[in-house]
Amino acid sequence: MNKFDELLNLTNELNEIERIFYEIFRILIKRPNPDDEDLRDLENGLKQLGNLSRMIFTLSEKCLEMENKAEQSRNAGKNFEYYASLEPKLLDIREDIIELTVSTQNDPSFCANVAWSLLFKQKVNTLVGYSAVKPELKSVQAHNFVTRTLYDLLPPCRNCFCLNLE
Ligand SMILES: [Zn+2]
Repeated sequence: MNKFDELLNLTNELNEIERIFYEIFRILIKRPNPDDEDLRDLENGLKQLGNLSRMIFTLSEKCLEMENKAEQSRNAGKNFEYYASLEPKLLDIREDIIELTVSTQNDPSFCANVAWSLLFKQKVNTLVGYSAVKPELKSVQAHNFVTRTLYDLLPPCRNCFCLNLE
């Protein structure tokens, strides 16, 4: 588990504590003669918890940013050609994507997500990432880099269902 996940777990735990505090608050406030001091203490506790979980969330975002930067520098110099030299089938997929781009260019609608999921995702997943045969291609970094590079070659979505959802 990386630092980002650890911090995210911490945030979830804090949210749970916050929820319990809030439940207690709701029970206390319903009593016939609510004790103002108890309520104020709880209210303050809730505020502090809120601040704490916001701080941890900000920290986790910074952490993620740092990990992304570290991943980028690990990937520097490892471009698509490097991965394709280890797995030439990646070049075939790139060709297929370019062909699809040309053959669909006059279509009124196109969905990059659907095209990716139906035509390319499975193939790429067997070649890079956990299912890869070559050890150099077995990493999450290799998988993410190749996926991003190939996906970005697809034409952007136009008049598609996933745009309607936004
Ligand atoms: Zn789409």
